[in-house]
Amino acid sequence: MTLFTDFGLAQPILKALAAEGYEKPTPIQAQTIPYAMEGRDVCGIAQTGTGKTAAFALPILHRLSQNPKPRQRKSARVLVLSPTRELSGQIADSFKAYGRNLKLTTTVVFGGVTISRQEKELANGVDVLVATPGRLLDLVDRKSLTLRDIEILVLDEADQMLDLGFIHALKRIVTLLPKERQSLFFSATMPKTISTLADSFLRDPAHVAVTPVATTAERVEQSVIFVPTNRKQVLLETLLRDPSIDRVLVFTRTKHGADKVVRGLDKAGIVGAAIHGNKSQPQRERALSGFRDGSCRVLVATDIAARGIDVEGVTHVINYDLPNVPESYVHRIGRTARAGATGLAISFCNDEEKAYLKDIEKLTRLKVPVMPLPEGLPAAPAPSEHRGEPQRGRPAPHSRGHQGHGQPRNADPNAEKGPKRRRRGGKPGGGQPQGGHPSANQQRHSQGQKPAQGQRPQQGSRPAQAKSAPSRPEGRRGDGAQVAWLEKSPRRR
Ligand code: AMP
Repeated sequence: MTLFTDFGLAQPILKALAAEGYEKPTPIQAQTIPYAMEGRDVCGIAQTGTGKTAAFALPILHRLSQNPKPRQRKSARVLVLSPTRELSGQIADSFKAYGRNLKLTTTVVFGGVTISRQEKELANGVDVLVATPGRLLDLVDRKSLTLRDIEILVLDEADQMLDLGFIHALKRIVTLLPKERQSLFFSATMPKTISTLADSFLRDPAHVAVTPVATTAERVEQSVIFVPTNRKQVLLETLLRDPSIDRVLVFTRTKHGADKVVRGLDKAGIVGAAIHGNKSQPQRERALSGFRDGSCRVLVATDIAARGIDVEGVTHVINYDLPNVPESYVHRIGRTARAGATGLAISFCNDEEKAYLKDIEKLTRLKVPVMPLPEGLPAAPAPSEHRGEPQRGRPAPHSRGHQGHGQPRNADPNAEKGPKRRRRGGKPGGGQPQGGHPSANQQRHSQGQKPAQGQRPQQGSRPAQAKSAPSRPEGRRGDGAQVAWLEKSPRRR
């Protein structure tokens, strides 16, 4: 078995890892760290939740610490490109945590906040710069930053970068980097478009891969509830009366939908917050910190906003809307299965979404068990009092019109574009994957990979994620809706 001490990492880094409570490397770390320590380029297939941030951060910190250099003005030694501001912030936090015993500086820059503070932070140079592509180029264009001293480049979540329309920014960035450098490239999937991009960044890379996307699903206890759109809100409120739902991420397909759900919860006296691309940075930070510190137990998010957010102890994921891209389902439910933990995912499925469910089951090769509607679930609100959801028979709130408005210019990472809608020839669940991206299933076949138990991230001695199921009251809400059935299937450990 590989241990962190086997890699030859500098003592201050090992000390920081001990402080983090990491006992042993996850599979992506075990595979990546030796190559990266040698200075080799790496091309990795790994999704968030596998421990890939440490897989690149640890060898980078080690290499910087072994070769100290004075900082150059408006310059950095390491550049980490990441698609969203949340992910960028988390990557920077990880560098700071693992590098806490080293005298290295880490700065993060992303769009949506004033640039002048970032310019000031860069003025004297930094060791590690984590950036979203659009803001990075803005800084370069304003001559507040030069990339000529970059020794190590990381491109993280490449598939999401392309989904967000960063391809041109990335192509330009690569021309600004020194040819002599180490590059580490990570993506959750590796269709042709991404591997072509990887080729333009990498030189003779070592290839590493863990946890094909579909296998994450096996770690999560899943269920689906068939429910008309106009009863979803009341169903959600009913489920949330169960006190075992400790920290829950609720996914909606649109920003508008997320806000509507939060407004509904508010009316029902349940504290919730929404996080999506139309929220300002302070609003996002407030929502996230409330969710982290437990003052807000329900975070309602869209896919793009949630991907990469690392919050420990998410006990439940609720898919208020099923995603039409099956990989998104796996990413979503993976939020409750971080670094090897298990979780519980409940999906609401209306008639239009049944085809999406089929696609999901095909991808994960798992049949999602059906749960009945809780007994005594209140009827749908009458049209006059309804909360804005389309009534039965009307289209679900996922028409194009709801999404994609308010996109910032320059493909700002706050944009909620996400994967483009698949064309489904009239039925919601059919059609081809968009953009020529093979599904994770196709990819798994093409790579000859089989989801294997052994590939899963190990669980370190991190704080237990989910609370053990308490012997709790029946979970009845005042109006008699019974929610105790939620406990039917015991949590896997
Ligand atoms: P990432 O895939 O980088 O987003 O990491 C997912 C989570 O796993 C983060 O909360 C990390 O702090 C945690 N983590 C990373 N490496 C380890 C490890 N070796 N042992 C335990 N937890 C880890």
